[in-house]
Amino acid sequence: MPETEAKRNFITEIIDEHNETDRYQGRVHTRFPPEPNGYLHIGHAKSICLNFGIAQQYGGLCNLRFDDTNPAKEEQEYIDAIIDDVRWLGYDWGVRLFFASDYFDQLYDMAVDLIRIGRAYVDQLSPDEIRAYRGTLTAPGIESPYRDRPVEENLALFEKMRAGGFQEGEAVLRAKIDMSSGNINLRDPVMYRILDTPHPRTGDTWRIYPMYDFAHGQSDSLEGITHSICTLEYEDHRPLYDWYLDNIELYHPQQIEFARLNLSHTVLSKRKLIRLVQEGYVDGWDDPRMPTISGLRRRGYTPEAIREFCDEVGVGKVKGVVALHKLEYHIRHDLNKRANRVMAVLNPLRVVIENYPEDLTEELDAINNPEDASAGTRKVPFAKVLYIEREDFIEDPPRKFFRLAPGREVRLRYAYFITCQEVIKDANGEVIELRCTYDPETRGGSAPDGRRPKATLHWVAAAHAIEAEARLYDTLFSVENPEADRDQDFTAFINPQSLQVVHPALVEPSLATAQPGDRFQFERLAYFVVDADSTSERLVFNRTVTLRDQWKKQQKKQPRRRKQRRAKRSQS
Ligand code: ATP
Ligand code: MG
Repeated sequence: MPETEAKRNFITEIIDEHNETDRYQGRVHTRFPPEPNGYLHIGHAKSICLNFGIAQQYGGLCNLRFDDTNPAKEEQEYIDAIIDDVRWLGYDWGVRLFFASDYFDQLYDMAVDLIRIGRAYVDQLSPDEIRAYRGTLTAPGIESPYRDRPVEENLALFEKMRAGGFQEGEAVLRAKIDMSSGNINLRDPVMYRILDTPHPRTGDTWRIYPMYDFAHGQSDSLEGITHSICTLEYEDHRPLYDWYLDNIELYHPQQIEFARLNLSHTVLSKRKLIRLVQEGYVDGWDDPRMPTISGLRRRGYTPEAIREFCDEVGVGKVKGVVALHKLEYHIRHDLNKRANRVMAVLNPLRVVIENYPEDLTEELDAINNPEDASAGTRKVPFAKVLYIEREDFIEDPPRKFFRLAPGREVRLRYAYFITCQEVIKDANGEVIELRCTYDPETRGGSAPDGRRPKATLHWVAAAHAIEAEARLYDTLFSVENPEADRDQDFTAFINPQSLQVVHPALVEPSLATAQPGDRFQFERLAYFVVDADSTSERLVFNRTVTLRDQWKKQQKKQPRRRKQRRAKRSQS
């Protein structure tokens, strides 16, 4: 389990107070309660870090519990993926893996108890009628004509529901609370409905299933949870959970609500993420453009970076949107320490070193990670024919371009200084090759006379480079908030350039043995991870994140332009 230092926030204040007043005898027991109706996303990561983190901080416990009350939407695939994701994030629930479906018998008995004390009834209004009778925020609801059935009739009808005597939608069990309550959740909420769908865990045992609201609070209570942490939209459900616990006479955990995480340039609703997968906008739940934990993992994110991010955004009561570059900051920071540097050329331009011997290959020493001396060094081959990045040469360079140009000398990383002598073009005038010379005195990248070129370029040796595929990812949506426009579906804002495939990219030969999940910095380009689909025949790299914050660059440019304009104005 990851280390957690003591953190202070409004939730720990509540817990501290409970500990002082001995409300839970000093126990701190939390849970992470996903519904297995999709894969987990970065918002869930925040909840995971919070629940497991708090338990750790107080020497308490945290359960993993699946709230699996709706078999129509839930699948074993999701259960498996969620377990993998929580574990990958670095958390351990020990033996405390639970399912709300473990409690189906008990929940059924609780429902029967509520019928017995006259607090629940079988309603036979249609689903549409129930909706219409519920009223609105401004108008009270209307009581169902079935509301005052005698207990015995309700018991018999509930049993009939369970035994298959009704079709789906023909009958539901409702709590008898208050149809005129200002809180719509208390207007005789449905407790049980009929679903003719086998359950991933209980199979065909049940034809009736508890509603989430009838299962969640009691599940917490049965597990002895002390602090039931959830997102703000459940604030209005708390009185209902309390009502159930009071009327069934069960132990009360304390529910605490916090603001859910929203992230810019993406969507974090499972309903929308499912659409992206099912409608083919992305290549599955773990597509590296997805904000899912499995997508971030495939993108090359580390659990450490995600945990640091969740720590930084913290918990509060105020809704807001966190900028994506905050998340990117943390992965960049983490990979800077742990990713080995290698050389790869994505857009190759051929360079021939005219004065270098035809058949010679030198093995030059390269540093694996300047941030980590223990990462050591490796050999990179240097030969007469090389590739450099096309963007590193301009025939007629602008004033601030210091890289390669005709007649100019630059340093090749870990190798030699080279000078461009001649530019070869094809029939269309496109540059296809540079003829250069090298200075044999500059082996390793420094000159005896102390001269220093203004630029250092990365390169690969043509005969030794490996062809690979590089997948360059950008944000999945081209706007900050794809859900802002009420008239347009969020899919209208998908970024058409969210994936650009480069093939072949040329990578240095040390990468021949790279394994899926290995992370690298392609020098001067970006951080990359070897994709899960990568094989020794076809190496595939996913770009995790660029080296510098692209947003910052854009933001900085503007004031500079303004300054220039101001300067011009003052001159004239
Ligand atoms: P959705 O609304 O997208 O279907 P959900 O909240 O219903 O998601 P659950 O599986 O019920 O998904 O969530 C499990 C836990 O994760 C809940 O306690 C929920 O409050 C929390 N959670 C879900 N989304 C976020 C988020 N964006 N930020 C923080 N916590 C979240
Ligand atoms: Mg939910």
